[in-house]
Amino acid sequence: MSILVYIEHAEGKVKKTSLEAVSFANKLTAQTGEGDVIAVALGTVDSAELASVGKAGAAKVLHADDSRLTDGVIQAHASAVAQAFTAIGTKTLVLAKSSLGDAVAARLAIKLNAGLVSNVVELPNTSNGYVVKRSIYTGKAFAETTITTDNKILAVKKNAVDLKTDGGDATVEKLSVNLSDSDFASKIITTERATGEILLPEADIVVSGGRGLKGPENWGMIEDLAKTLGAATGCSKPVSDIGWRPHHEHVGQTGVKVAPTLYVAVGISGAIQHLAGVNSSKCIVVINKDPEAPFFKAADYGIVGDAFEVIPKLTEALKAE
Ligand code: FAD
Repeated sequence: MSILVYIEHAEGKVKKTSLEAVSFANKLTAQTGEGDVIAVALGTVDSAELASVGKAGAAKVLHADDSRLTDGVIQAHASAVAQAFTAIGTKTLVLAKSSLGDAVAARLAIKLNAGLVSNVVELPNTSNGYVVKRSIYTGKAFAETTITTDNKILAVKKNAVDLKTDGGDATVEKLSVNLSDSDFASKIITTERATGEILLPEADIVVSGGRGLKGPENWGMIEDLAKTLGAATGCSKPVSDIGWRPHHEHVGQTGVKVAPTLYVAVGISGAIQHLAGVNSSKCIVVINKDPEAPFFKAADYGIVGDAFEVIPKLTEALKAE
């Protein structure tokens, strides 16, 4: 039996988190030894971009090419995905955990009478029932949840699986869906991103600065390093509280939770509330002049040194590469 994957796209590109969801579903079909992965995409997006979802392991992409579906119309997306789910006769839907993904998944759980687990970090264990491991308490613990319904929905946490990139192109097929006015009754209003800025929650690399940088006038070197790495910039809470940086850059328990491939923390002590927002990062590099800074315990690599000496040298070396 095939597995359906709901994929999100923005600015003409399928989101990396959705490609991870496809990779997850691909592993799931390998585990059960049956079926293939069928993705469903809604709204205006280029066919070649959709075909490339095959690299992550989808055999086919069903495309409801209706411009009304391009923005996050949650109810309409839930209706369209439910119709795709029924049309292909599957029992399992996989999607990326995201604000839109969670909102769509909750509605689908009702429509499909499906058990839903969000923040999934591993393939389900089917040796005794259907047990799904998920991340809880901002990544500090795990819980195991059993799904007992026939229909199942799994929302996969970012970075929980390695992205598959070696598949061939997927075939893209038109999907016709019946939608009513009530499906478009509410809509997520998206905000325009500032020119050239990489969005923090989706960034693959983040360079963050803390109070150790002494003042907003010193952020030029953080921005320079971030630009060199193609990274988004973040900061600790006190930094945004004092107004050195905008609030949307504040990373941590009470701010943005990030899960990049690389998180570089400069002049940040590593308080538990900051770590709560970064502990899903694949690799953490800490630069701090205090060898006893708690952040070093969570670091994959650490540089004990003065940020004002280390950062310009690091940026210069990266630029020279
Ligand atoms: P500091 O703790 O002052 O650390 C500065 C660091 O810079 C030190 O380790 C120092 O050694 C180093 N340093 C100084 N000079 C240099 C230099 N020249 N070169 C290199 N290193 C240098 N914080 C968050 O970040 N995010 C949150 O979401 C968050 N939520 C919170 C929620 C609650 C309820 C509470 C109570 C607190 C929260 N905090 C949060 C605050 C958190 O507890 C810490 O106070 C905060 O993270 C510290 O920020 P900091 O590391 O930038 O500053």
